[in-house]
Amino acid sequence: MLLRASVQKVRVTVWNEYIHERENPEVARIYPKGIHEAIAEYLRQQPDIEVRVATLQEPEHGLGDQVLERTDVLIWWGHAAHDKVSDKVVEKVYRRVVEEGMGLIVLHSGHYSKIFRRLMGTSCSLKWREAGERERVWVVAPWHPIARGLGEYFELEHEEMYGEFFDIPQPDELVFISWFEGGEVFRSGCCFYRGRGRIFYFRPGHETYPTYYNENVRKVIANGVRWAAPVCGPRPYYGNVEPLEKLGHKQL
Ligand code: ZN
Repeated sequence: MLLRASVQKVRVTVWNEYIHERENPEVARIYPKGIHEAIAEYLRQQPDIEVRVATLQEPEHGLGDQVLERTDVLIWWGHAAHDKVSDKVVEKVYRRVVEEGMGLIVLHSGHYSKIFRRLMGTSCSLKWREAGERERVWVVAPWHPIARGLGEYFELEHEEMYGEFFDIPQPDELVFISWFEGGEVFRSGCCFYRGRGRIFYFRPGHETYPTYYNENVRKVIANGVRWAAPVCGPRPYYGNVEPLEKLGHKQL
């Protein structure tokens, strides 16, 4: 059940394919316990958030029914092994989002994950360049809960470039636009509503840079968790219904 009192903590599962950190010494040096642990470390310090982690290598990728039932918001980091994620798990995550309102935060190269492309219905393709460029992330929705506690912009000294055109549907809310040293721009914080669920795509986080230790990036992810958490809304009924009031006209 996702209908929980607001005093309860938001239950987050941080999912990571966990491949680069085990195969590339440069990445292992930055994220010795994996990207998932770097993200979880900050979230665990939040009094309103409860965290677990899951990786591709576990049975059902660590996303069995019991875990999904106890997850309010799922965070997704993948890159090298999108095609290794089982369709069955993708289907379960998809249903959990659209039918039951689980929140989903898709990070960086997760734009090409099966679950994100399924939810978007487009190719989710983009331009990219790996040259350690400066990224300036501009807040374009200062009223948005995901922008809470940030300045007008923040900078990441070294990041991979992602550039437009980013083939996604028009976001329901656009929170960030990134500028890169090489001149490209990118819609780097995009919110979507799909069925009962909320989805937040957040761009930064290439594995060879220490992006997930950046205070602003961490703040955005925690804000994203709170925004994407399910609300105790009514469960819609679909299909044929009897009228609520007596109908005045003659039945044909
Ligand atoms: Zn990358």
